[in-house]
Amino acid sequence: MTDQLKKYLTEDRSVRVQAVRLEDTWKAVQANHDYPPAITNLLGELVAASTLLAANIKFDGSLVLQIQGDGPIALLVVECRSDLSLRATVKMREGHDVPTDGTMQSLLNPGGNGRFIVVLDPQRKLPGQQAYQGIVPLEGDTVAQALQHYMKASEQLDTRLWLAADAGHTAGMLIQRLPHHGGADAQILSEQAATETWDRITALAGTLKRDEILETDIDTLIHRLFWEETLVAFDPLPVSWHCPCTRERVANMLRSLGEEEVNSILAERGQVDVGCDFCGKPYKFDAVDCAALFSAHQPASGDKPPTVH
Ligand SMILES: [Zn+2]
Repeated sequence: MTDQLKKYLTEDRSVRVQAVRLEDTWKAVQANHDYPPAITNLLGELVAASTLLAANIKFDGSLVLQIQGDGPIALLVVECRSDLSLRATVKMREGHDVPTDGTMQSLLNPGGNGRFIVVLDPQRKLPGQQAYQGIVPLEGDTVAQALQHYMKASEQLDTRLWLAADAGHTAGMLIQRLPHHGGADAQILSEQAATETWDRITALAGTLKRDEILETDIDTLIHRLFWEETLVAFDPLPVSWHCPCTRERVANMLRSLGEEEVNSILAERGQVDVGCDFCGKPYKFDAVDCAALFSAHQPASGDKPPTVH
């Protein structure tokens, strides 16, 4: 079965409804890792959230959601491209145990330094253009609350999110109020009508429970919540797992470490082993490879490190 994200609009076009439910993609994310359940749930929710946001970006490129923590988890990161292919990983902090009842706050923000970060990175940038990055303190008890806090702090559209994950599935729903178009008179009227639509849709979705979102397929869920509404449905969008790591990117990373550092690893271990943080793919650089890194330095075209013009 192909994982999908489905988009709908209310009949008056004022509210966007999106739902996603992932199985194969989510299993692929977990394939090379053995995360404790508390971490699985948090990462899964972040994965679902990334697809719901990436489904609306207007450029070719990627959306990255990161939670940087000061507790047992140092980093949760999901990179979702505009074609809804994604990869995700977790970095643990050494020497910390993950309690089974760990929460987002206890695992990522015990010292109050947790951060929620959103990066929008267009593939083709204008000269001098950099990726957009928004950072807010990590607030709320759930990933959905942290993201809603981000949306509010960065003055995004009114948005509500429901997210749920376990080892088998991750799922989410997003409801977003869209900006108005049209003339002055029409706007006053439609503003009122749009507010009524927003209140009605959020009240209907407000009944949604974690188990329900996790266990119910998208069509059933949407019908159950909104059967009295007329929703315009769009073609489902496939979601997939993909890790774009390449040997050349790892080579660039090693170059950025510097020749001295690479040579010291080489002296210690005989070769440099780098495993992709996301997919676990091993990349080996022996003494000859390492020497080549710093001699004829010519990154493959299309895979150059970012430069500032
Ligand atoms: Zn990889």
